[in-house]
Amino acid sequence: MREAKHIAIVLAAGKGSRMKSDIPKQYMVIGEKPILYYSLQAFQKNTKISEIILVTRIEDLEYCKEKIVKKYNFTKVKEIVAGGKERYNSVYEALKVISKKENLNNDIKTNCYVHIHDGARPMLTQTIIDNCIENVEKYEAIVTAVKVKDTIKVVKDNQIESTPDRNTLWQIQTPQSFEVNMIKSAYKDIIQKIQNKDDNLPTITDDAMILENYNNRKITISEGDYKNIKVTTPEDIIIAECFIASDNK
Ligand code: C5P
Repeated sequence: MREAKHIAIVLAAGKGSRMKSDIPKQYMVIGEKPILYYSLQAFQKNTKISEIILVTRIEDLEYCKEKIVKKYNFTKVKEIVAGGKERYNSVYEALKVISKKENLNNDIKTNCYVHIHDGARPMLTQTIIDNCIENVEKYEAIVTAVKVKDTIKVVKDNQIESTPDRNTLWQIQTPQSFEVNMIKSAYKDIIQKIQNKDDNLPTITDDAMILENYNNRKITISEGDYKNIKVTTPEDIIIAECFIASDNK
C-alpha cells in the first residue's frame, strides 16, 4: 500500500451571522492577519499534510486566491472550491473535488485521510494536527475534543429537563478526520436523504454526526486544546487576539 496521504479541508464559506459584522468572521483581522490565515498556516507548516482544499463563498473565491493564498504563499492550497448553503454542503463540495482528483473508487478503503477544519478556528496547533494524523491512521474516524469544564443542562421551554453526567461530556472541536471514502459515502447518503426530504433528521452541525447517526460508526476522541476556540460571537475576537498576542511573545 502507498504511504498514507493527508489532505486538509479548510471551511470558510460561512456568513458568520452571529458575529453581527459586515465582513464574514474568517476575514476579520487579528494580530494583523485575517483569521483564516492562521489555520492555513498551521496546515501549510505540517510536513505530513500534503494538500489543502479551501472552501469559500462563491463571491470570495477571487479574494481568497489573491489576498490570502497568493499573498501568504500557501503553496499547499491546490484548490479553492465554492461552498454551499450549510456547512455540510460546503464539506461535500470539497469531498467531491478530492474524490475526482484522487480518482477514488467509492467501495475501496484507502489510506488517504481528510482533516476537516473550521477556518474560524485560528488557534490550531501542530500538536493538534499531529494527534489527528496519528489517531486517524489508527482509528479511521476521529474528532478533536476537550472535556467540558461547566455543568451542562438539557433545557426545554426555559426549564431544566435533565443534567447529563459531566464525566461523559466532551466539547467537540475541529479538525475531524476520516478515511476519505468512508466520509464521502456517508455524506453522499445524507445529502440524498435531505434532498428526499426525509423526516426526523437533526440539524447537522459537525462531520462526526453524519457517521454517528446514519452509519453507526464508532468515532474516537483525539486530544484537542481549550485554546482551539471557534470565533463565533464578538467576545471571541478579544479572546483570540489575546491568544495570538501571547503566542507571538
Ligand atoms: O456556522 P459555524 O460557526 O458552525 O461554521 C463553522 C465553519 O464552517 C466556519 O469556518 C464557516 O466558515 C464554515 N461554513 C462553511 N459553509 C457554510 C457554513 C459554514 O464553510 N455554509
